[in-house]
Amino acid sequence: METKKKDIRAFTKEQLRDFFVSHGDKAFRGNQVYEWLWHKSAHSFEEMTNLSKETRQMLESNFTINHIKVDQMQRSSDGTIKNAVLLHDDLVVESVLIPTKSRTTACVSSQVGCSLDCRFCATARLKRMRNLNPDEIYDQVVAIDNESRLYFDRPLTNIVFMGMGEPLMNYNNVLQAIDKITSPEGLGMSPKRITLSTSGVPKMIKKMADDGVKFKLAVSLHSAIDSVRTTIMPFNATFNLSDLREALKYWYNKTKSRITYEYVVWEGINDKLRDVEALVDFCRFAPSKVNLIEYNPIDEGDFRQASNKAIDLYVDTLERHGIVVTVRRSRGKDIDAACGQLANKS
Ligand code: SAH
Repeated sequence: METKKKDIRAFTKEQLRDFFVSHGDKAFRGNQVYEWLWHKSAHSFEEMTNLSKETRQMLESNFTINHIKVDQMQRSSDGTIKNAVLLHDDLVVESVLIPTKSRTTACVSSQVGCSLDCRFCATARLKRMRNLNPDEIYDQVVAIDNESRLYFDRPLTNIVFMGMGEPLMNYNNVLQAIDKITSPEGLGMSPKRITLSTSGVPKMIKKMADDGVKFKLAVSLHSAIDSVRTTIMPFNATFNLSDLREALKYWYNKTKSRITYEYVVWEGINDKLRDVEALVDFCRFAPSKVNLIEYNPIDEGDFRQASNKAIDLYVDTLERHGIVVTVRRSRGKDIDAACGQLANKS
C-alpha cells in the first residue's frame, strides 16, 4: 500500500535537516531544499539542480509540493488584476493585484470562504470551508510579485490581508506566512509594508500585541454603535465594541502603531451625525486613520452607498477632531475584484 506523501512545506528547516541526517546525508541538504522551497519558490523537486538525481527522486517518493495554481487571471480596465487560485484540494480562493503610480499592493486571502457573517460582504455567503496553510498564503504573494514584475516592471511593494476570510480566525498560519514573507530566507519584505485587516476579534488583537508583531493593523469598523454594528455584522453580538475598544487600547499601548479603521457609509444605516460622533468617540484614544471606502453592491439588497453629503459630514467632523481621513475609490469593480466582492464568481 502506498503511504500518503507529506506536504514538504509543512516542515521547518530544522526538520528538513534532521530528515537528511536520518537518511544518511548531510544536514545542509536541508538548507538547500528549504531555500528552493521558499526563497526560490520551486514548484517541483526536478528544479532543485544542486541536488543529485537520486536525492531528488528520494524527495519525490516521500513528499509533495502543494503549490497553488493561478487558474484564471482577469485584468480590469484600471489595471487591477484578479487571480482565481486553485488549491491542491480543488478549492478556489481569490487574490488581487492593485497597482497605483508608485506601488503594487497584493490583497491576499486567509481562508476559503469566511468564518464571519457580515451582511454586506459577498465572501460571507460562501461560509468558511477551511483555513489556508502558510504556504498557500505565501504562494499568493509570490504569484502577485511575479505579475507585478511582468506587467508593471517592478516588484510587489505592499501586502494587505483584505481578501477572503478573517485572518485572526486563522492566526497561526497567517503569522507563519508573514514570517516567511518577511524573512530573508523567504521574500525579505519589510513588515511595515504589510497590513492585517480584521473585523475585530478582541482576544486575538491582544495576542498579536503580546506577540510583538511588526505589521500594521486595520479594523473593519463600519459602525461605532453596538445596535447598528450587530445588525450589519452579527458577530458583534459576541465581540462587542467595548471589548474591541479595550483590545485596541491594549494594542496601541504595546505597539504605538496607528490604527486604521475601514468604514463604509450606507444610506439610512450609518449616515447621521450621531454615527459620526460615535466614531469620533470610539477612535480618539489613539492616533487613528479612517478610510471611508466605497460600497460595492453585491446584490439588490438593503445596502446603498450614502450620499456625498453624508460622506462630507464624516470627513469634516473627523478632520475637526484631528482624525486623519481618506476617501477611497474602489478598484477593479468591473471584474468583481473590489472589497467584499470576492466570491469565486468568475
Ligand atoms: N475579515 C477581514 C478581512 C477582509 S477585508 C476584515 O473584515 O477586515 C475586506 C474589507 O472589505 C473589509 O473592510 C470589509 O468590511 C470590506 N467590505 C466587505 N464587503 C464590502 C462591500 N460590499 N463593499 C465595500 N467594502 C466591503
